[in-house]
Amino acid sequence: MTDVPVHRYSCVIIGGGLTGLRAALEIADAGYDTAVISKVHPLRSHSVAAQGGINAALGNAKGGENDTWEAHAFDTIKGSDYLADQDAVALMCRDAPRAVIELEHMGTVFSRTQDGRIAQRPFGGAGFPRTCYAQDRTGHNILHTLYEQAVNRKIPVYEEFFVISLVHAGGRCVGCTALEIATGKVHGFVSGVVFLATGGFGRIYSRSTNALINTGDGASLALRAGAPLKDMEFVQFHPTSLYGTNILITEGARGEGGILLNSDGERFMDRYAPGSRELAPRDVVARAIQKEIDEGRGFNGGYVHLDLTFLGEDLIKKRLPGIRLITRDFTGVDPINKPIPVQPAQHYSMGGVGVSLDGRVTDVGGLYAAGECACVSVHGANRLGGNSLLETVVFGRHVAQTILKDLSGVQISSSDPVKDAVQQMERKLAAMLSRGEGEPLYRIMDELKVTMITHFGIFRREKTMIEGLKKVKELQDRFSGVIITHKGQVFNQALVQALELEGMLLLAEVVAQGALARKESRGSHARTDFPARDDNNFLTHTMARLKEGEIEILYEPVTLGMFEPKERQY
Ligand SMILES: Cc1cc2nc3c(=O)[nH]c(=O)nc-3n(C[C@H](O)[C@H](O)[C@H](O)COP(=O)(O)OP(=O)(O)OC[C@H]3O[C@@H](n4cnc5c(N)ncnc54)[C@H](O)[C@@H]3O)c2cc1C
Repeated sequence: MTDVPVHRYSCVIIGGGLTGLRAALEIADAGYDTAVISKVHPLRSHSVAAQGGINAALGNAKGGENDTWEAHAFDTIKGSDYLADQDAVALMCRDAPRAVIELEHMGTVFSRTQDGRIAQRPFGGAGFPRTCYAQDRTGHNILHTLYEQAVNRKIPVYEEFFVISLVHAGGRCVGCTALEIATGKVHGFVSGVVFLATGGFGRIYSRSTNALINTGDGASLALRAGAPLKDMEFVQFHPTSLYGTNILITEGARGEGGILLNSDGERFMDRYAPGSRELAPRDVVARAIQKEIDEGRGFNGGYVHLDLTFLGEDLIKKRLPGIRLITRDFTGVDPINKPIPVQPAQHYSMGGVGVSLDGRVTDVGGLYAAGECACVSVHGANRLGGNSLLETVVFGRHVAQTILKDLSGVQISSSDPVKDAVQQMERKLAAMLSRGEGEPLYRIMDELKVTMITHFGIFRREKTMIEGLKKVKELQDRFSGVIITHKGQVFNQALVQALELEGMLLLAEVVAQGALARKESRGSHARTDFPARDDNNFLTHTMARLKEGEIEILYEPVTLGMFEPKERQY
């Protein structure tokens, strides 16, 4: 007990991606002491990998002059298959132009139109060219900008600190514990409020475009703390990832004019979405590609072609240089001369921690969440490309403003509950490390990922899902006998992975239970046994809670208002 390292802040932000950093700036500028905790250096957060761009109705591009925030809201709600909460969508789309201009003023190097304004490109499901971009490295540019701003304000960042538990006292969250990965020491953080900005959980799937760190830690922490997880069965599959490695090939490639061809040389999107073709929303295009592959019109091994060759060398070098490098380096194909082999891959977590419009986590006082780890919900059953970067900066700031309102009434707790939690975690980690024999970690991890892609992938049906859920439960049981072969304290990545896996197994079950219970098809949730959308029974959000060790599924109404649900046609 004597040398438990304990840190005290008004606000602790878990996550150094765009959401966490944008929130940190807001809180620091209001004069409160805040710290960011991140399991990797902030610049390695998955936000850095975002390629295609960020949406805002600026009206800068040719053909986009009449764009409005209302049109952006309509596209988002239609894209969501009417599951998004319309008040949240309105808040985001109305604030988008301000948020993008703010990024520009902070120093983001956006690509430009001829007359010097921020350039915008067409994206899937959007009625106007609305996606502002920095070549095909938009996330990289924005994340560096926000990180520079955080460094300028001297905001403390605990990097390579892995948060392992939230701490409660007096009915609210009063801090957290974190493993310092470099030393193996457990630290305590006492804080007035805790902000979750921990990103998505894509890595519960094999074939994912996500960074290896996207293991959904924040969502499993919140679930264990009593919060509901919302709409977790809605998992986005991006239509175009590089065949073999599943590195993302941005929708921007289709936005710039790229087309999809099957092994017969047919531009097959004509059959699936005659109006928008390659620029239909992601759920539609991913299903079309998968169907072509399943019905034997893909290439060997299961991919189709994304053809950019006719766009010309100049355009590819100017607007898609990253895509060209990735394709050349990982397949040996230069997209200037040859089509890119692509297949769908897990890409985004629409579901997440249930929060109010202002980011307060449902049922857990003192806890807030935003960004990909949360579900507010602006994406509903299917996210439009370019809306996630927007969500991070809009809600990072908005939820920080909620915190600023709430903080004035908050007394920071004594250190005792956090010190107790640190000791409890030390005992847990020691027990995990002391186990001498058991099953290797990677085997359970690999089986989980394959189970999820096989049983809860693009197309779903009851029989396969029941088998999948059984397998997930078997893996949960086997986890209790997992062995961590590396016993050291310094950079014990196996220990970190074991802690991640424990949470991933829980999230996988929530996805599975939610998917089984939702007997309809909506957005990314496509059931072959229930192919139609069912607004009478399922125009509702799934709310999953942990009750005495079991997942309980309840439903809550969707907030409508601006647009009546209609059949989606593209
Ligand atoms: C390849 C790719 C390309 C994309 N392109 C686009 C695009 O062009 N446009 C768009 O709108 N969206 C895009 N997206 C989606 C978008 O990038 C993400 O949804 C968004 O950046 C998520 O930001 P975030 O701040 O919520 O989380 P992240 O950027 O994922 O950050 C999460 C943070 O949480 C920290 N963390 C997690 N768990 C713990 C823990 N236990 N302890 C401590 N720290 C923890 C991590 O270290 C990290 O700092 C893309 C996604 C991918 C995968």
